[in-house]
Amino acid sequence: MAIQKTEAIVLGATKLRETSLITTFLTRDFGKIKAISKGVRQEGSFLTPLYEPFSHVQIVFYEKTRSDIHFLSESAMLCFFPGIRADFEKISWASFLLELTETVLPLEEKNEALFELLLLVLHCMEGASVSPFVSIFEVKLLWGSGLFPSLGSCLRCSRTDFETAYLNVEDGGIFCEHCRDSHRIFYPVPKGLIRTIHFFAENDFSKCLTLKLSPENEAELHRLTYQWIRGRFDRDLSTMRFLREVSLF
Ligand SMILES: [Zn+2]
Repeated sequence: MAIQKTEAIVLGATKLRETSLITTFLTRDFGKIKAISKGVRQEGSFLTPLYEPFSHVQIVFYEKTRSDIHFLSESAMLCFFPGIRADFEKISWASFLLELTETVLPLEEKNEALFELLLLVLHCMEGASVSPFVSIFEVKLLWGSGLFPSLGSCLRCSRTDFETAYLNVEDGGIFCEHCRDSHRIFYPVPKGLIRTIHFFAENDFSKCLTLKLSPENEAELHRLTYQWIRGRFDRDLSTMRFLREVSLF
C-alpha cells in the first residue's frame, strides 16, 4: 500500500460501526476518493470538524489497490469555512454543490481544475453572497463532466433561431417549437438561459463574474439542473429538494 498525501475537500461522511467513518473527499491529486478512518468518533457523538462537509483539509492515506475504500491515517484542517456554516442560505447552497459533485463525478479520476474551482467557489461564498458562484460551478461541473444536454440546436431540424427551446431528458437535447411532440414531456429552456450556460462553460471564472445574471435566470438554471439530474440519475438530489422546499429557488 502506497502512502499518499494531498489536499482535499470533505464531500460527506457516513458512520461505520461504533467509532469509525467512511469519508468522501474531492482531492487535488486523486479526484473523488473514499477513505475509512477508525476510532475517530466517541461513541454516539457527532463528527469532528475534520470530517464535516466543506472542510478543506490536508490528508495522508494508505492507498489500497484492491478496494475503492482507502485507509485514512492523518487529517489536518486548512479551512473550516465558518462563514458558510453560520448562514442558512450559504450552507444550503454549499451542501447542494457538494451533493452535485459527489453524484456526478466518478471515483478516482484526477480533475485538479475542478478541485481548484470548488475551493475558489467556497472561499467566494465564505466572503460574499451565494450568487453567482453556485451557478458558475453548477454549469462548469456538469459541462466539464459531459453531463449537460446538447443545447446548440434542435435535435430534429437543427434550427437555432428560437426564443424558447424544449428539453427532452430521454433524447438528451432540445427541440424547437415545431419539432416537439405533444405527447412527450419537455421542459422549456429560454434562449437567454442557453446563452448564459454557454458563456459560463466557455469562459474562465473571472470572465464569468462579468456576466450580470438576473435572479430569474439563476432560478431557471437551477430548475433545469434539477430536472436534468432527476432524468439522468432517476432520483432527486436531497439538497436540491430541500432548497425548493424552503423556496431558495
Ligand atoms: Zn426543430
